Amino acid sequence: MRVLILGGTAEARALAELLTADGIDVMSSLAGRVSDPRLPVGEVRIGGFGGVDGLCAAVRDYTAVVDATHPFAKHISANAVAACAEADTPLVRLERPGWAERSQDSWHWVDTHEEAAAAAARLGARPLLTVGRQEMHRFVPDLGDHAVLARVVQAPESPLPAAWRLLTSRGPYELAGELALMREHAADVLITKDSGGEHTWPKMAAAATLGIPVVLVRRPARAPGVPTVHTVAEAAAWVRQTV
Ligand code: NAP
Repeated sequence: MRVLILGGTAEARALAELLTADGIDVMSSLAGRVSDPRLPVGEVRIGGFGGVDGLCAAVRDYTAVVDATHPFAKHISANAVAACAEADTPLVRLERPGWAERSQDSWHWVDTHEEAAAAAARLGARPLLTVGRQEMHRFVPDLGDHAVLARVVQAPESPLPAAWRLLTSRGPYELAGELALMREHAADVLITKDSGGEHTWPKMAAAATLGIPVVLVRRPARAPGVPTVHTVAEAAAWVRQTV
């Protein structure tokens, strides 16, 4: 009885800890995007599987799979659905709740990062950009001349516009620090995506406190029909009744 957790999130690490404490044999999988990832307890493998076929071959070694990847990691999730269906391995999706229910009048929802860039260019001159390293380049055409403060876990490989300032740091963050950062930069718009959960919520609270508009990218659509839970405890309960 082994469980494969597709990870790279705080929830995936918490689930690995909970299941390991229960005596369940867990393997966590990370993509290998950052050079010094936070490692979960238990066994860890790092790197892609080689598409659906590779993942399908891999999941045959497991009793169940938990897709606990980030809400914006849509390729690996789609691959997991296809691979687990093919291998007949039970799959559950663990996805933290989004922020839509907390939406405010000062939030501007968009469907793509390009739309977010265009909206932010209309709304401000000094954006705080917190969409992750992989999506940075999509903001350059509209915001290349703006005084962007780009916060990322690890610096992107390609150079950023001269007008931009890069800040490397890793959450979770607290309200006081987010307020100080926005004030120090004189940020007049926050650009982010609907990652949801509590770890990165303080920047939303800080923007509200300072009266700064927020541009938010909606989550990508998910494959229908996959059982989905929203908390680590629910995912652990699903695993216990499945393995
Ligand atoms: P993605 O676009 O959905 O995946 C691209 C490819 O990366 C997948 O096809 C797969 O390669 C590999 N991959 C992704 N997650 C993997 C995992 N957990 N284990 C093994 N291979 C994985 O994913 P992404 O958006 O680049 O995210 C990569 C990782 O970063 C995920 O673990 C995710 O949870 C984490 N993360 C993402 C974000 C975000 O905003 N996207 C934010 C925080 C953390 P193969 O096809 O070769 O298997």
